[in-house]
Amino acid sequence: MLIALTDYCSMGCPHCLSDCTTDGKHITLEQLKRNLDFAYDLIGYSTMQCIVFSGGEPFEHPQIKQVLETIAEYQKRFPRVGVVIATNGYQLAHDKDLYNWYRDFVKNRAKNFLTQVTAVKEYYPKRLIEKDLYWLSKIKNCSVVDEVSEIYLYPQGRALNLKDARWETKAPKCVNLRLIANQIPETSFRHIVNTMPVGKYCTPRINIDGSIALGESRLCPPIGTIDNDLQKLGENVKHCKCGQCSIPLEILRKHSPQAYSLIH
Ligand code: SF4
Ligand code: SF4
Repeated sequence: MLIALTDYCSMGCPHCLSDCTTDGKHITLEQLKRNLDFAYDLIGYSTMQCIVFSGGEPFEHPQIKQVLETIAEYQKRFPRVGVVIATNGYQLAHDKDLYNWYRDFVKNRAKNFLTQVTAVKEYYPKRLIEKDLYWLSKIKNCSVVDEVSEIYLYPQGRALNLKDARWETKAPKCVNLRLIANQIPETSFRHIVNTMPVGKYCTPRINIDGSIALGESRLCPPIGTIDNDLQKLGENVKHCKCGQCSIPLEILRKHSPQAYSLIH
């Protein structure tokens, strides 16, 4: 499961599948708590689950310290669920006060937070230099992806404008949830989400306004909101017919026609 903390990002990557810009809004603390209540009620007792907190760029949220303190409170109550903070690392490496605060926070007050920095120089316009990478490596449980071979490009948003992009995709990002919903008799959203294969952590996505989408991109249409009944949400997953991802859908049609027919 992914919870978006902001739609704002100043990095301007040409491959951004979410099309994030500096026009994006940030989640309010009140909405964050509502989204966390929903998410932890759904998956809070599972050892197989993990919540990725992403955006936009989380560390450009003006209240990021309060946001992270709030997440840490929930994590104390639900320690089985993993927490990953996904970031481009730029703000974190360049704002000394924020860096020192976060380093102390993950070491002493939020012990199981993982920080995933993605900062591939070929795609990220504001590059991290050796010194930045060194300081980021001093944060507990922080890993950095900075090799182009390690990043999976997905044909959505601005990435569609890239010439000669190497798409590393076999299907739309929503495919697992949709296939599960179409093959099990149980239609509760709770059951569908908790049947997801381990490692598929970026779906569903709870947006900053409490709407829920099946794909990681904020361009994925909402299938409902956190205020909907779980049965209704499950039905909406089952009947989702979104076909916006034409490239991944075509790959799926060619290589797994049976799976394609179940969701299309
Ligand atoms: S890919 Fe990430 S860092 Fe780049 S513009 Fe999009 S949200 Fe920002
Ligand atoms: S745009 Fe539609 S098909 Fe693509 S990942 Fe999102 S929900 Fe799935």
